[in-house]
Parts: sequence; structure tokens; C-alpha cells
Amino acid sequence: MSSTPHIYWQPAQFWQAEGERLLCTLCPFRCALSDGQVGLCRVRRRQGDHLETATFASSVHHWQTIERKPLYHFRPGRHTLTLAAPGCTFRCDYCQNSRISQYGRDDSVEWTALPVDSAQVVAEARAKDAMIALSYSEPTLAAELTLALAYEARETGVEIVWKSNGFVTPEALALIAPALAAVNIDLKAVDDDAHRRLTGAPVAPLLANLHAFRARGIWLEISTPLITGFNTDTASLVALAEQVYAIGAEVPWHLLRFHPDYHRLHADPTTPELLARAVAIAKDVGLRYVYVERALGARGRCTYCPQCGYEVITRDIWALRQNALHDGACPACGEIVPGKW
Ligand code: SF4
Repeated sequence: MSSTPHIYWQPAQFWQAEGERLLCTLCPFRCALSDGQVGLCRVRRRQGDHLETATFASSVHHWQTIERKPLYHFRPGRHTLTLAAPGCTFRCDYCQNSRISQYGRDDSVEWTALPVDSAQVVAEARAKDAMIALSYSEPTLAAELTLALAYEARETGVEIVWKSNGFVTPEALALIAPALAAVNIDLKAVDDDAHRRLTGAPVAPLLANLHAFRARGIWLEISTPLITGFNTDTASLVALAEQVYAIGAEVPWHLLRFHPDYHRLHADPTTPELLARAVAIAKDVGLRYVYVERALGARGRCTYCPQCGYEVITRDIWALRQNALHDGACPACGEIVPGKW
């Protein structure tokens, strides 16, 4: 990366002409842009006869474990080089990463990203036998960067993962999917009105994409922030758990603790009791792998064999301590634990 924060607009993919307008086909908002117009996400714009993106850039460049995404059933303990391109298609009022994600949508958010050299990032990851994650902001908006990284990573073994809102069109997903090894998608509400209230976006495209990511062979885990007073009533918790179950009983579901942040400062933090109740509801619904990183102690973040209860993966906070699986199976009873190990 260079050292001067500056927006470098680069030619974008994912658009088509529609009469006098150019239609952005990256996310389901499908902005129809006149010359000079910027999309709802504020990081894509029309310049003459093409679209441009500002997301060949990152506000972070640091190392974590894959557990931090969180991805628990995917390469446990693996080092991960994390990038975050500015921008988001959602405008959640509790966003803990608003200083990156709400660039262009919130006047107080400044541009802090530096250009990304894809080849250099891949070389760094390869040297540490690591993977690359796009996280914190919305990686679907960095689709071109993701493809560039995947091109550089071809035949290197370096895998690319997203922590995403999953709000992408089917045709864009079809093009991006081969670049991705795993995704963790946020599911914040099942009810469309509630989802629109929180995020400003409909929920149907993301629900469809939960199935689509799996169908394309991308390892999927789901996260739900339990936001006090928004999705923490019993009916909402049951609906969320049933939605995850509809994707697959074996899909790992991460229940995230909410802390007051950004514009949602009035709500209380999620209590451990509420997280425990949500876990119990999820188990009653039939989900096999439900995780809470910290608030419920070590038991909340370890993996137990759903057949015999053996502790097959022991985790410290955001870190692997021990993986006892033998070729993906429980060493005590032989039950297969789904994942990419
Ligand atoms: S990615 Fe941005 S410009 Fe494209 S349709 Fe979505 S909001 Fe509009």
C-alpha cells in the first residue's frame, strides 16, 4: 500500500447499459445511474460510459485467526490477513465498524483507506500459509478486489473468505463464487419490515443467497447479533433459528453479543442470560452447532460431537486450542462433523 489516503476510482465490473442509464448489477438495489451519479452505497459511480469503484482499497491490514471472523468449522486456527474496503449497502444504526462501513453515507466518516496491491497481499498471505479475509465493512462492494485477489492467488493455495451481509445479486454471486472458499453471513431479522428498519434493505435476497452460497460449495456459517429490543423476543429468536435450520441443521450459527454503539446507544448490552436462552431455543429447533464467543465461557465456543457429546474442538477466545477431530470425525464415536478442516 502507498501511504497517502486518497480515493482511487478504478473501472468496475457488474453493470450493463439500460437505455440512457447504466445499471449496476452488483447488489439488489440495482442503481440506474446517469453520468456522474454515485450509487446508494457511495463507493460506486458512473463516469461516462462505464462504472467505477472506490473499493480497491482497505482501511485495515492486519493479522488475526480465522476464529475472529467468526468461522469455526473452516481451517481452525489458521492465520488470516484481513482487509476492509470502505462502504456498505446496509446502514445498521448499531454498527461497530461505522468509521469504515458508513463512508459516504455518514458525513462524519472520513476516507481512511489505502490502495491494495493484490499481488503483494497474496504473497504476504502465502508466506505465512495464511488466508485472506475481507471483513468489518461490506466485502460484496469489493467484488472486483476479491476477484483480483483470487486471480493472484490461483494455484497458490491461498483461500479468500468474506464476513458479509450477503446482499448481492444472483448474477454477481455466480461470478464471485469461484473466488470464495468460505463466508460468514449476518442474519439480523427474518421479517422483512424489521430487516428494512434496521438495515435499509429487504431480507429476501440475502435469504436466497444463504442457500446459494451453500449450493455453490462455499463453506457457510451464519452470525446473528442479538440486539436488545430488536430481535431478542422469543418469537424473533425462534424465527431466526428456524431460518438457519431451513438452510441446514449443521450450519454453524454464531450468536453475537450487542454493545451500544454508533446511533444505537440507548439499548442495553445483550445479557448472558439472553444469549443462553437463544442457544437453548436454537438447540430445541434442532441446530447442532450454536456458538457464543465469550459471554457463556469456554462451553459457548467449543465444538461438541452432536452424537456423543465429546469435546472435539477446544477454543480459547478467538483462537484454537485443540482440534481432536480425526479426518473430520469425532475420535470417540466416529460421527462426522461438517466443515473444511
Ligand atoms: S452496489 Fe452500490 S451502486 Fe451498485 S446497485 Fe448496490 S448500492 Fe447501487
